[in-house]
Amino acid sequence: MKLVLLGAAGSGKGTLAKSIVKDFNIPQLSTGDLLREVAKSGSDLGKEVGQYQQKGVLVPDEVTFKVLKERLAKDDCKNGFILDGYPRTLNQAKLLETIVDIDAVISIELEFDEIVKRLVSRRNCPNCGEIDNTEHEGYTGNCRKCKTPLFQRDDDKPEAIKTRLEVYKQNITPLINFYGDKVFKISSANSPSETYKPVKLFLERLQNE
Ligand code: ADP
Ligand code: ZN
Repeated sequence: MKLVLLGAAGSGKGTLAKSIVKDFNIPQLSTGDLLREVAKSGSDLGKEVGQYQQKGVLVPDEVTFKVLKERLAKDDCKNGFILDGYPRTLNQAKLLETIVDIDAVISIELEFDEIVKRLVSRRNCPNCGEIDNTEHEGYTGNCRKCKTPLFQRDDDKPEAIKTRLEVYKQNITPLINFYGDKVFKISSANSPSETYKPVKLFLERLQNE
């Protein structure tokens, strides 16, 4: 199954992707994560990528697409994958179409007010990638899985959040129109498991087609 996951920053995309990875045995390809790796490398390109990410604006297509293409060429993508954070623009969707055929697109929807609330209190584990929230019960500031102190992403600060949501808003309708019948829409206003239930049914049906 070759899947695309659409959804604004903080919509619950990453969390949903993890459930899909577990049940359907396909890798999650996050262009945000792949680009953060490039940024960490310290090369000139890395520095440039880091600046885009910090502001919350899109990294240029030629960089993003190259990184994604290299990742898609790896063996573990043979039986499918779930794209988390790509495509974000119509142009990116068209580029993607030149190298793979997407089977289905899951679009997560959530009110922007709620998204902002979730993002400002989001915290990440630098060691294992676990995501937590200062508002959640039992929050200690340390990772629930590996105990490492959590941190706040630079782009989870108010100004960058605003930019990221605006970029999303500008691009989502053309993307939804581009994928047409392939799109399955869900709301993530409820708990992660409530959000995942209909998606799981949808994917099971798709798998048996
Ligand atoms: P979020 O979805 O929470 O904004 P991501 O980790 O997916 O976070 O992305 C963080 C940043 O990485 C984006 O703001 C952007 O700078 C860059 N990025 C990720 N995916 C893409 C993409 N498909 N095209 C261009 N830039 C991207
Ligand atoms: Zn951890």
